[in-house]
Amino acid sequence: MSCENLEKCPFYNDKMPIDSALGRLYKKNYCENDKTKCARYRVATTLGKEYVLDNLYPNMQEKAESIIQANSKK
Ligand code: SF4
Repeated sequence: MSCENLEKCPFYNDKMPIDSALGRLYKKNYCENDKTKCARYRVATTLGKEYVLDNLYPNMQEKAESIIQANSKK
């Protein structure tokens, strides 16, 4: 299922620098197929959009985990 943030997401709208072939692959794999694996989506849905770093790419799952752990309420 495609991501509901497609229209506003900086990554999907080519506002984040990335090799174009890799960008297309990520868009296909994450944005258009499985948003639940996207690092940006996970942080946004778990903590809120304000926690999504400008340089957080969809494939950065480990970074997403550490952001979530660091900011989750105990
Ligand atoms: S899947 Fe991730 S990168 Fe793609 S549009 Fe949604 S939040 Fe943005």
